[in-house]
Amino acid sequence: MLSLDRFAQGLPDPQEHQPGPIDECENLECSKPIYAGQRIWKHGADQYCSLRCLAESIGASDVTAL
Ligand SMILES: [Zn+2]
Repeated sequence: MLSLDRFAQGLPDPQEHQPGPIDECENLECSKPIYAGQRIWKHGADQYCSLRCLAESIGASDVTAL
């Protein structure tokens, strides 16, 4: 478990003491909040909450081969 203690000190905004989302899923259909420590998928600088969100965002989909 990553220690976040050094981030919990000296922040000007008291709201920052609440563990909140650090980003949100880049898939606009999803936009779920992403929290520190969460396992995510990265594509370049974009962050996705799941592989499905990443795949949909880049136009990929899983289908049954015919
Ligand atoms: Zn997502």
